[in-house]
Amino acid sequence: LEAPVRMSGEVVKGFGRGSKVLGIPTANLPHDALKQLPRSFETGIYFGWATVDGVGPYKMVTSVGWNPQFANTSMTVEPHLLHSFPDDFYGSSIKIVIVGHLRAEAKFESLESLIDEIHLDISSAGELLDCEPYSFLRSA
Ligand code: ADP
Ligand code: MG
Repeated sequence: LEAPVRMSGEVVKGFGRGSKVLGIPTANLPHDALKQLPRSFETGIYFGWATVDGVGPYKMVTSVGWNPQFANTSMTVEPHLLHSFPDDFYGSSIKIVIVGHLRAEAKFESLESLIDEIHLDISSAGELLDCEPYSFLRSA
C-alpha cells in the first residue's frame, strides 16, 4: 500500500451471508464507494481505522473483493470493526482509512477454516494497529 486509502459512505445491507451469525459482522459500503479506490488497488484483506457517525476511530479489518453472488462482476468493501456495538448501524455514515495489507483473497476448504483465518486476520490487525506507523494513522 503506497498511501492510506480513504473511503466513506452509508452502511448498506449486504446479502446476509450470515457473517453476524458467525460473530463477524461486516458493515458494507455502498457500491458507489468503489469509485474512491485508486485504479490500481488490488483485491485482498486490509486493515485500518473506521469511524461511525464521527465516533471512533475503531480498528477495522476489511475485505475488498469480488462478490461471488454477483457472478464476479461486482466488488464489495466490507469492514469488520474491532468493537462491540450494542445495535446495528445500517444507514450510518462510515468512514474508513485503509493503512495496510494483510493477505490476498483466498478460497477455503471449509467454512470453519475460513472463520479461523478471519480470526487470525482480526488479531493480526489488532496488533499491527497498535504499532507505528499504523497507530499514528488513526487520525489520518
Ligand atoms: P450484511 O450482509 O447486511 O452486511 P452482516 O451480517 O455483515 O450483514 O452484519 C452487518 C451489520 O452489523 C453492519 O451493517 C452493522 O450495522 C452491524 N454491526 C454490528 N457490529 C459490527 C461490527 N463490529 N463491525 C461491523 N458491523 C457491525
Ligand atoms: Mg456485511
